[in-house]
Amino acid sequence: MRREIERRLGLKAVDIYGLSEIMGPGVACECVAQAGLHGWEDHFLFEVIDPGTGRSLPEGEAGELVITTLTKEALPMLRYRTRDITRLTSEPCACGRTHRRILRVTGRNDDMLIIRGVNVYPSQIEAVLVGLPGSAPHYQLVVERKGSLDHVTIEVEADPAAERAAYAEIGRGIAHHVKSLVGITTDVVVRRPGEIPRSQGKAVRVRDLRPKTG
Ligand SMILES: [Zn+2]
Repeated sequence: MRREIERRLGLKAVDIYGLSEIMGPGVACECVAQAGLHGWEDHFLFEVIDPGTGRSLPEGEAGELVITTLTKEALPMLRYRTRDITRLTSEPCACGRTHRRILRVTGRNDDMLIIRGVNVYPSQIEAVLVGLPGSAPHYQLVVERKGSLDHVTIEVEADPAAERAAYAEIGRGIAHHVKSLVGITTDVVVRRPGEIPRSQGKAVRVRDLRPKTG
């Protein structure tokens, strides 16, 4: 999506990170190296924790981003749990800035699906779709309970250049790659360009139709 935005508008698009509980956009921002988001450490303390135990993780390990505000007045936040899953790095950046970088957010705690005992983030499936020819980065995961088992159907749009006749083959390729890279068996329905509903703001990637428990 970023490449498409850059190509069509003739600009360099950088990622900006924020959350309204902290200050809104501007907590961290990419530089022109587009290699992770520099976190403004003079205003925020960043940590990554194991979301299960709450323990701090060493730099480079993936876990939940936790932010403490250092200069915010009236409504400071102490170790605010963002639910965003990411990694931190303090390796030198090509731009010369030394602020630690937050790497790409790969999912959210509350997005995680447990499919037949396998922990799955929608972003893992997205990563497979982005790497394959024939599909566009518009998709939804439909999760249902069939008997006592969870079942996932991936609905994904075909690349506008793909022929209708190739849809079945594209679908088989996606199912194969998801099985080998993510570890779950899925049905894949390839839809025509524009058929997956677009949302304003954050994309809705999962339709969980399983009966609610508890
Ligand atoms: Zn940089």
